[in-house]
Amino acid sequence: MNRRDDIAAGLDHVRRRIAAAASAAGRDPDEITLVAVTKFFPASDVRILAGLGVTDVGENRHPEAGDKCAECTDLALRWHFIGGLQSNKAAAVGGYADVVESVDRRKLVDALNRGAHGRSHPVDVLLQVGLDPPDRAGRSGADPADLADLAAAVDAAGMLRLRGLMAVAPLGEDPATAFARLAEIRAGFLVGRPEADWLSAGMSNDLEAAIGAGATHVRVGSAILGERPRIQ
Ligand SMILES: *Cc1c(COP(=O)(O)O)cnc(C)c1O
Repeated sequence: MNRRDDIAAGLDHVRRRIAAAASAAGRDPDEITLVAVTKFFPASDVRILAGLGVTDVGENRHPEAGDKCAECTDLALRWHFIGGLQSNKAAAVGGYADVVESVDRRKLVDALNRGAHGRSHPVDVLLQVGLDPPDRAGRSGADPADLADLAAAVDAAGMLRLRGLMAVAPLGEDPATAFARLAEIRAGFLVGRPEADWLSAGMSNDLEAAIGAGATHVRVGSAILGERPRIQ
């Protein structure tokens, strides 16, 4: 099989999984956006995905993300930045990402907003919520108690538009349990911010559990594109 056939088969399988999970949860599959995660794969794969009807792609590192985005400006794709973001790179990311899913601290808000200055549309922002226990080393994501303050900072920035929440299930915990916690956090968040109703959760191994817990966006890489070419 050639690369296009491989990708088409992976994509078809993932779309069926999304449809089945939506149906099991009594949801409309059209409510769920597939973000194809293309990190470590070449721009030629992004091009194949776009040709197969993918509308949203996810990248987790700068400058790889920006380079690939620049190679694909002729494609009508929404670029999601989904990775841990260093504040000294956030302004650059604000210059090209359409959606930044990994905003978990105040410092990033100001830098992203600076980078987005002069763009024709505001950058969509998701606040990344930490689902790890607070004492876990290398934990990423905001404390749920800090979400309201972060949301207010996004509103005040000017070139950023708050869309909702994002999370990654912690390693070593049943994703259904973690995503049930996320659904509760989200319910609380939506009371104050009913319009910010995107929920990005679920990857290749746990997208069913995420859809069951209300995900509107799933971020899927290896189940579509195969094993990543190099170790992160
Ligand atoms: C890499 C990555 C994904 C995709 O992971 P797969 O297991 O390949 O589907 C999703 N979300 C984030 C934040 C990632 O970094």
